[in-house]
Amino acid sequence: MPAPLLSVQGASIPRIGLGTFGVNGDACVEAVNAALMAGYRHIDTARRYENESEVGQGLRSGGVPRDQIFVTTKVWWDEIAEDRLEAAAEASLKRLGLDQVDLLLIHWPNPAVPLKDSVKALCSAKTRGLARHIGVSNFPVALLDEAVSLATEPLTVNQCEYQPMLNQDKVLAACRRHGMAFTAYCPIGRGGLNNLPVLADIAARHGKTTAQVILRWHMQQENVLAIPKSSNPGRIKENLDVFDFTLTNDEMSDIFGLARPDGRMIMPTFQPQWDVAA
Ligand code: NDP
Repeated sequence: MPAPLLSVQGASIPRIGLGTFGVNGDACVEAVNAALMAGYRHIDTARRYENESEVGQGLRSGGVPRDQIFVTTKVWWDEIAEDRLEAAAEASLKRLGLDQVDLLLIHWPNPAVPLKDSVKALCSAKTRGLARHIGVSNFPVALLDEAVSLATEPLTVNQCEYQPMLNQDKVLAACRRHGMAFTAYCPIGRGGLNNLPVLADIAARHGKTTAQVILRWHMQQENVLAIPKSSNPGRIKENLDVFDFTLTNDEMSDIFGLARPDGRMIMPTFQPQWDVAA
């Protein structure tokens, strides 16, 4: 069964999408096919993942009409200068074999490039029809506020890490204040949160897996989308099967209680200054 849609800034986005980082070659084509067959209608890729061609191949062979699938790609931070961003988006479209993506994101901020120039080029990519919607990724609150104030087109999404060990209250509040979606990447902590007793207990109570409990926790938060990655058909299916149970308020609180100051997993050398939880 397809995931419900989140309507935001004129976009209708399936609340669960397939992440594709680290899935390449035939495995990527097969993962996209398996996801479409399981009911996914939202696929996340990026130039940096070096799999846009295979994602495109999977979309074409998957048998689902293009207009029923929400496809996101991202421009890497070394290509977000005003004179490079649109060419980078065009190159992504060529690799994907698409005329347009549904969502084009700036993958990471780049302090060496004036934000106003990147945002101008991103908005131009939208008005030229390269993308139906645009947004950002890995933008802390101050940068997000600045990007929104500079944009002449709506910013639809901020895609950031969000799993139970990481408190993202500040970025979430900013996304909601701007009427944007928060897309949770690394949503199941790269599969590494399975041994946490809090999650295992809740999972046992509902007859679900810990990954499903975490994704359900995301789904019970306003404006949150999640893009779990799997290249395994069984787990791809499992990660979408989170709409037939509900976590209680106490269970939600217990999961929020797992957040820790050192809970962030993705910290590249070029990361921005993150917001610190209150
Ligand atoms: P995830 O939290 O989605 O975890 C993926 C890992 O969990 C894989 O090793 C996968 O293995 C395993 N897994 C998947 N499903 C299950 C399950 N049901 N039970 C147990 N293990 C499972 O991490 P990602 O870092 O991949 O994040 C998701 C997506 O977010 C990326 O693929 C990418 O599209 C995007 N992303 C964006 C970033 C950005 O900067 N904007 C940064 C990082 C990610 P297996 O494949 O064997 O199932």
